[in-house]
Amino acid sequence: MAENANKKGIFDWYFKSNLLARILIGLILGAILGIALGFSPDAVKPFVDNTKFFGDLFIRLLKMIVVPVILFSLIAGAASIAPSRLGRVGVKIMAYYLLTSAFAVVIGLVFANIFQPGAGFGIVGDAAIKGKEAAAPTLVQILLNIVPTNPVDSLAKGDVLPIIFFAVLFGLGISYVKDSKTKTLADGAETLFQVCNAAAETMYKIVGGIMQYAPIGVFVLIAQVFAQQGAKALGPLLMVTVTVYLGLVVHLVGVYGGLLAVWKLGLVKFLKGANEAMITAFVSRSSSGTLPITMRCAEEKLGIPRNICSFTLPLGATINMDGTAIYLGVCAMFIGYATGNPLTFNQQLTVIVTATLASIGTAGVPGAGAIMLLMVLESIGLKVTEGSAVAAAYAMILGIDALLDMGRTCLNVTGDIAGSAIVAKTEKELDLAAWGK
Ligand code: ASP
Repeated sequence: MAENANKKGIFDWYFKSNLLARILIGLILGAILGIALGFSPDAVKPFVDNTKFFGDLFIRLLKMIVVPVILFSLIAGAASIAPSRLGRVGVKIMAYYLLTSAFAVVIGLVFANIFQPGAGFGIVGDAAIKGKEAAAPTLVQILLNIVPTNPVDSLAKGDVLPIIFFAVLFGLGISYVKDSKTKTLADGAETLFQVCNAAAETMYKIVGGIMQYAPIGVFVLIAQVFAQQGAKALGPLLMVTVTVYLGLVVHLVGVYGGLLAVWKLGLVKFLKGANEAMITAFVSRSSSGTLPITMRCAEEKLGIPRNICSFTLPLGATINMDGTAIYLGVCAMFIGYATGNPLTFNQQLTVIVTATLASIGTAGVPGAGAIMLLMVLESIGLKVTEGSAVAAAYAMILGIDALLDMGRTCLNVTGDIAGSAIVAKTEKELDLAAWGK
């Protein structure tokens, strides 16, 4: 009996304490443990092997819920919005996504020009490092791939853009049939709409439950990253890391803060509402995986209505990657400097175009940006071939990619929410009470 009472007390403490505080505690303790483990390399592998389950569990739970959340909330969202409005919201959010991404590359390049990460490093080729051929998709392919040839196949594979495309059409179809003159059809469509809406609600409930596990998942994942990568991040790579993170912070405060201010929205209030999604993105390194949390923060904490965020957020999680854009700019510069080929002005202009497109084509999964870096390097003639200095420098970046991925994914997700809030504000649909107004 006494033991039972005691157990209940412990769980009470866990479930009743503030979720964000618990996640932050997990983050800090995980980092401390990871750094400590880094000092005894023999302990790293057993630790990673033994804790793999707990970290993977968190990622799997998040992944499990991604497709159902996108599907149902988008169908419900599109079905509750007049078709003409969807077009307007679409144009606004696309303009925001494209412009902020291009701006992000410029910020990355400016900071890389100032700090010159890798300058004078004089890296030489290492035959032991295998080069990879760039296998990045072309722009036409990226656009065509948005249209699914088989929606069920896309759902099964979790291809987000085709799912968005199909779900929006499905939702729009429902909204037209709801207006049908044939009563049975109109009633049926209304029921379909209610079912999808309830299904979306149900998914959010599940997300809330998954978040209760987040502190433990965060603790384990962070400890693993620091144990494996911490020591390697030193030396010249520290400069890359600092440059990327500085770019991320400046973009967050300058661009998002500035744009929010233009629409009379406070950055601090925004960050308070978005922080759960930001932290989840930071540790999961996946915009798509974070999407359920992103939706929850947007709707419940920031008052962005579902008919807007159910469309803008999944789209943003797939194509809006400002953090990745900054990373691509800085890393291209690093590889140029480190191999003794500092990028010329024209090469940097090319990087602005290719990195913006590459960030659009980057999947919202861990490490995807590093693959797109190959495409950017190729566009400026820095080919990653076996044994080349470029391959060696690229491999160095890969060594710390997890650390960079955390920050860039966090900014990727933050940008999606900021854009959605701004679009909602321009549509006069933002619940200002959530912003203390
Ligand atoms: N991990 C990033 C994301 O999910 C993509 C990237 O690797 O840059 O947003």
